Amino acid sequence: MTSILKLFISSLLLSLFLISSVMAQDCDYYKKKYNCPVDKRFKIHLSFDDGVGSVTPQVLDTLKREHIPATFFILGNKVDCQQYRQRCSHGRNKNNCQSLQLCLQRRQTLKRIKQEGHLIGSHSYQHLHHSQLSPAELQSNIQRSKQILQPFFTTEPAPFRLPYGDGWFNQKDKPQVMEALKQNGFTHIGWEMSGFDWDKKNQHGTKILDNVMTQMCSGRNGTVLLHDGVFENEHEGRIFTAKHLAEWIPVMRCVADFVPLNYYHKELKPR
Ligand SMILES: [Zn+2]
Repeated sequence: MTSILKLFISSLLLSLFLISSVMAQDCDYYKKKYNCPVDKRFKIHLSFDDGVGSVTPQVLDTLKREHIPATFFILGNKVDCQQYRQRCSHGRNKNNCQSLQLCLQRRQTLKRIKQEGHLIGSHSYQHLHHSQLSPAELQSNIQRSKQILQPFFTTEPAPFRLPYGDGWFNQKDKPQVMEALKQNGFTHIGWEMSGFDWDKKNQHGTKILDNVMTQMCSGRNGTVLLHDGVFENEHEGRIFTAKHLAEWIPVMRCVADFVPLNYYHKELKPR
């Protein structure tokens, strides 16, 4: 072996050693920072609500790089392009046709979510407080979302997450909401941890990561609630989460393995 080759190999080994020890050190730092149990590893599942947003492909890129299976709870109205198609063909307003193009792009992203092996669930048709809806409105929201999203579901029953968790948190007082989901072939998926990333005051520094890590290291296992979309008529999505997710994952990985949703929800059978 030439001395140059020897030098190359030894410097390569040295840099690999340095990288791994820096990473180990980082994990020690984070475990201390968040008061994590010394020898415990958690099993967590990432879920994203309120999409499809135009930042969703960025979230998908990160998940693909990190080999993480996630669940996306989609708002039916974001991918119901028929409403824009009619307005585009009848109206003279160019904005309507632009809205149609954006909607068709979101549908493409929805296909990509499925193709890349993630689960798709319904977040209903509109982001309303479901326990306050009339029986007819409740049925119509659930059924319209089902009509739109049916081709993208891969489990039986299909997952559903109620906007604001309304009808889930308060199911004792408002049992009609969970009952309607069941009637329509859905199973409700709540969350055990939240990044509270919808709240603007958390959208800086490491606040969102801090929220997840603190809840996890206090002993919670299960599903983490994050957002790729914004529920109002705004289609860009949660830019801060999409931008920083790639930095948060290695820190979560110090104490957690990422598992698919059916690790916790055995009732979700492939169809
Ligand atoms: Zn939501």
